[in-house]
Amino acid sequence: MDRKKAVLIEQDQNIAQDISSVLAGKDYNVLRASNGLDGIEIICEETPDLILLNPAVTDINGFCVYKLLKDDPRTADIPLLICITNEKEAYRSLGMKPQLGQSIIRFTGKNDFEANIDIAIDKLRGRVDKNKFQSQSEQFKKILARLVDAYQAGQNLHSEHARGVLGEVLEKITSMLSSELGSLMLVDDDSQELVIKASRGLSEDLANKTRIKVGRGISGWVAKSGSPLLIKDVESDERFSRQNSNRYYNSSLLSAPIRVKDRVIGVINVNNKASKEQFSEYDLSLLTILTNEISIAIESSHWQKRLEEANTQIEKLKTGKKIFADIARSLDDELYELTISQEVSNIIYARLDYKEIIDAILEIIERSIDCHLCGLLFVDETKKTGIIVEVKYPASQREVDSFKLKIIETFNRLTGGRLLPEQVSVDQADNNNLTDAFSENRNILSSFQGHLLTSGDRPIGMLAVANSFPNAFSGEDLRIFSIISRHSSIAINNTLLHKKITELSITDGLTGLYVYRYFSDALEKEITRSARYRQPFGLIMMDIDGFKKVNDSYGHPQGDEVLKEVAQILRKICREVDVVARYGGEEFTIILPETDLEGAYILADRIRMVIKNYAFGNKDNVINLTASLGVASYPDIALEKADLIKHVDRALYRAKTEGRNTTVRATKEIVNEIQ
Ligand code: GH3
Ligand code: MG
Ligand code: MG
Repeated sequence: MDRKKAVLIEQDQNIAQDISSVLAGKDYNVLRASNGLDGIEIICEETPDLILLNPAVTDINGFCVYKLLKDDPRTADIPLLICITNEKEAYRSLGMKPQLGQSIIRFTGKNDFEANIDIAIDKLRGRVDKNKFQSQSEQFKKILARLVDAYQAGQNLHSEHARGVLGEVLEKITSMLSSELGSLMLVDDDSQELVIKASRGLSEDLANKTRIKVGRGISGWVAKSGSPLLIKDVESDERFSRQNSNRYYNSSLLSAPIRVKDRVIGVINVNNKASKEQFSEYDLSLLTILTNEISIAIESSHWQKRLEEANTQIEKLKTGKKIFADIARSLDDELYELTISQEVSNIIYARLDYKEIIDAILEIIERSIDCHLCGLLFVDETKKTGIIVEVKYPASQREVDSFKLKIIETFNRLTGGRLLPEQVSVDQADNNNLTDAFSENRNILSSFQGHLLTSGDRPIGMLAVANSFPNAFSGEDLRIFSIISRHSSIAINNTLLHKKITELSITDGLTGLYVYRYFSDALEKEITRSARYRQPFGLIMMDIDGFKKVNDSYGHPQGDEVLKEVAQILRKICREVDVVARYGGEEFTIILPETDLEGAYILADRIRMVIKNYAFGNKDNVINLTASLGVASYPDIALEKADLIKHVDRALYRAKTEGRNTTVRATKEIVNEIQ
C-alpha cells in the first residue's frame, strides 16, 4: 500500500520522535526538519500530503515559515497543521493568539497527540475542501457585515431590525451543517434568561414561549460555561437527562456560545431529530468557527472604530510627523509586525478606562516577554508625581526599589527631566509575588529595558522590564516590547485625551445643558457685568421632586430620558441669553440676565407649572412629575457668588419642606431666618 508523506518541522528531537511514531502508526512516512528553511526545502522537493509545523523554530520566524508556505502556489494547498507545545511561545513566534479554527493541534504528550491527530486532520481536510465551504463562507461574511451594522445601531442584537439578520445567520449555519432544526438565542440581560430570537423547524408558539435560565439545561450550560458542546445522543446523555423531556431535543445536538468581549450574549443550537450521532467533532468545530466569526466580527468592529479614532487623534497631535518611523523592513517583517500590532492593539484599544489599559498592557508584556519585573511609570502633569505599577514573578522589595530607581534614572536621562524618587510612589498590582528570598544572590537589573512613552513630543512615562539573567531579552523580545510600547503610548494618550475632552467640555453629555463649571464661571462674569451696568439679574435653582422613585419604578435609562425632556422644557421656556445648566444629578440652575426677583419668580413658577402638566415618558408609560424651585436675585439678596448660591439653595430647601411642587423666593426674611 502507498504510504502517505508528512513533513514535520520541529526543533525538539524528543517531541519530533514522539510525533513521528504516532504518524508512522497512521501510515505516514515522516520526513523531519529541525528548522524552518530546511523544512521549506524538503516540502518543495517532496510535495507531502501533510505538513506539521511547530512555529517556535529558531532560524526564521514561525510566522514567516507559515507565510512562505501559504504564499507559494506549490505548497499553498498542502494541509498544514500548526503544532504548538507552549501557548506563549506560539503566540510570540506566530504573532497571533492560537485560536480554534486556525488548524492548530496542541502537543502535550504522545498519547494526547495520538488521540487528537485524526480529528485535527479531518478538520483540516474539511477546511481545505474549499469549493463548497468557500462560497458558503463568502455569503456568511456578507450576512455578518449586516449583523455588525445591526449590532452597532443599537449596541446589542435585541432590536427588531436585528431579528431579520439573526434569522439569516441561523438559516445559513443550519444549512451549512445540513440540518433542518436550530435556534438562535440571546441572553436577556435583565432576567438572565435565554430568549429565542430566530428558529428553524420550531413551532412559533414554542419559540415565543421558550425562556431558559442561564445555567439551566443544555443551552443554559453553554451560555454559562462559554464552551461549545456536542451531544451525539441526547437521550442517553446523563448530564442533561432530567431536562430532556422536551421532544425537540431527542437526537444529536450542537450548541455554541456567541461572545462579545468575554461575555456570552447568546447561544446557537443546531439539532437533529431523525438520526442519532449525526454530528461529529468536525461539525462542532465548524459551528464553533462560525460563532467565533460572529464574535470576532462584532468585536473587531469595536476596536476598528477605536483604532480609527486613535489614529485621527494621534495625527492631530503629531501634525505632519510620521508616526511609525521605521518602515524600512522586508515584507515578511512588516507582516509579522502588523500581526503582532493588531493583536496588541486589539487587547489595548478595547478599553478606555485608564486602570484597565495599564492592566492590559502589563498583561501583554507578561504573556510575551520573559521578565521578572515589569513596570509602568506614569508622569502625572498636574500632580507632578509618577506611579509605577506591577511586579511579576517572585521578587523582593529591595529589587522592586532598585527597579524603580533605574526607571527614574533612565527616564531622567532620556528626557533631561528631574523626577525625584520621593515623588514616585510604587503601586504594586500583585503583592503575592513579593518575597525576600532573592535580595542577596541576584541582580534583578542584569537585563533592563526601558521605553519612553510620549504624548506628541512630550514624555509621559516609561514602560520597563527587568530580568535577573544577563542577556535575557532576545531581539524578538525587544521588538515586541517596542511594539507594545508604541501602542501603549497611543492608548494612554487616548485616555488622557478622553479625560481632557470631558474636562474641557462645557456641555453635559446627557442633557446638552451647560455643566456646573461653566455655570460657575458664567455666574461670576454675570456679577461683574451687572455691577458695571448697575443691573439686577436672577438666579433659579430647581430640583425634581421624588426623582428616585422614577428611577426605581421605570429604571435608570428611563430616568435619563426624563432628564433630557426636562432639559428641553427649560431651554424652550428660557431666553437665548439665559444660562441653563445642569447643576448636578437632577438639579438645574438658570442665570437670568437683566431680571429682578419678581421677574425671575414669574419664570420659575411658569417652569413649575409646565413640568407639573407635562406628560413625561411615553404613551404606554406616562410619568407625572413635579419640581421645587428656589429663586434669588442680585444685588438685593447678595453680592457675592457663594452667598447667591447659598441663598437660592436655601429657598429651594424651603420649597421642599413646604411640601414640594412649590416656588420660593429667597427673601431677606428667609435668608435671615436660616442664618
Ligand atoms: P426630593 O428631591 O423630592 O427630596 O426626592 P428625590 O428622590 O428627587 O431625592 P434627591 O433629589 O436627593 O435624589 C436625586 C436622585 O436622582 C438620586 C439619583 O439616583 C437620581 N439621579 C441623579 N442623577 C441622575 C442621572 O443622571 N440619571 C438618572 N436616571 N438618575 C439620576
Ligand atoms: Mg437632588
Ligand atoms: Mg430631587
